[in-house]
Amino acid sequence: MSVVMKFGGTSVADPDAINRLIGIVRGQQAKSANRSAPVVVVSALAGVTDTLVAVAQMAEDGEGARAATELEALQERHLTVAAAVTSASRAKLLADVRCEFQELTGLVHALAVLREVSPRSRDAVHAVGEVVSSRIVAAAFADQGVPSAWIDARTVLVTDAEHNAAAPDMIETCERARARVAPELAAGNVAVLGGFIGATAHGVTSTLGRGGSDYSAAIFGACLDVDEIQIWTDVDGMLTADPRIVPQPRVVPQLSFAEASELAYFGAKVLHPSTILPAVTKNIPVRILNSRKPENAGTRITADAMPDAGRLTAIACKRDVTVIDITSTRMLMAHGFLRRLFEVFERFKTAVDVVTTSEVSVSVTVDDTRRLEAILDNLHNFAEASCEREMAIICAVGENLRADPTLFGKAVTSLDRIPLRLVSQAASRRNITFVLRNSDVPHAMMRLHETFF
Ligand code: ADP
Ligand code: ASP
Ligand code: MG
Repeated sequence: MSVVMKFGGTSVADPDAINRLIGIVRGQQAKSANRSAPVVVVSALAGVTDTLVAVAQMAEDGEGARAATELEALQERHLTVAAAVTSASRAKLLADVRCEFQELTGLVHALAVLREVSPRSRDAVHAVGEVVSSRIVAAAFADQGVPSAWIDARTVLVTDAEHNAAAPDMIETCERARARVAPELAAGNVAVLGGFIGATAHGVTSTLGRGGSDYSAAIFGACLDVDEIQIWTDVDGMLTADPRIVPQPRVVPQLSFAEASELAYFGAKVLHPSTILPAVTKNIPVRILNSRKPENAGTRITADAMPDAGRLTAIACKRDVTVIDITSTRMLMAHGFLRRLFEVFERFKTAVDVVTTSEVSVSVTVDDTRRLEAILDNLHNFAEASCEREMAIICAVGENLRADPTLFGKAVTSLDRIPLRLVSQAASRRNITFVLRNSDVPHAMMRLHETFF
């Protein structure tokens, strides 16, 4: 069986975590009948990307000295971890890590002098976490007797030039994966790549957006036609709700691609929202597993998983969305009105999540408010428009919503007395979305969770 195994930040956080990772990969190889080597995709060590984001911000604010101090500490942390997990290749690895940080420090210094950080420079800074973590893990494998090859993900994952949220060029990426990654696997080497990072066709470093290592794993998995994409993380699988909001949620043993997509999109951080797409195109099962409890079954995501009758699958929430109400007594029913309305959002590259309509008004929610003023100005050309911030979306997901009409009523009833701004059930009838105030989220999530789980 061929697999891609992705390890998130907490699963490579320190020497113990990296040693656990090596144990898990060894276990996987022992299980595979043909002993085919897996592809291992790693995130930056826990917290590193957050620090790099802060460093880029310091550069933009002209705080070069503070940024340099942060980078020094970051280099120290990586050198300590690198030294602890290697032996024979230690000297070479430490030199490589120093070299990456030297280059980064020079770049950040230049950005701080200019006080200007373009999306492209930001990607160059953010990418270093995965470059060094993957170098460390590859060397650790080799020194612990697991043949491995470090492959710079930027030479494989080709993206467009939408820096900070780049999209993969699947055709080019698959060609390169077959040319560069597949031969290592065939030779019995574990191929180790950084997640999250890629490069444009011109070789400029890009990133897939925060949490993007899951997406990288799925992209490599689809290109190499693997049998399974494994997401190793710090929880037991997809949970029935965000554990930071609802205490003691349960593990969802299996769910469908469509359910997982909805949950990821509406806030289940355990999976990057784009992860499912490459898996769907090749029909590759995705497993979510806990790297501290590798013996657990985790969650299995497949095309046709059906939950137990009478239940929802899970709930998720996305905070800090903005509701825009658009009212036009004259024009709403006129043909062409909705086209005109959505063209405004398209022009300003702003995605709309939830939409509800009535006779004279349309309400939509948006996540990205960077162009909100311009959107409202443009809407004012043909309608009244106002917005309300600090709202949230709660999304209750379950294939069973299609078959069991009582679930909808049960969900709404459980939210009794919590003011609901919008409620919608999409045509797929796989989810119900509620829009409510940010401050009502914990209460509403607990009520829904109590009702259904
Ligand atoms: P990694 O670094 O391994 O990619 P993330 O922090 O990105 O891990 O994602 C795992 C975290 O997602 C969990 O620790 C948990 O707090 C959060 N999370 C939010 N919603 C869910 C959910 N429905 N199921 C599981 N985890 C969730
Ligand atoms: N390190 C990146 C982040 O923190 C990517 C990832 O972990 O998936 O966003
Ligand atoms: Mg993640």
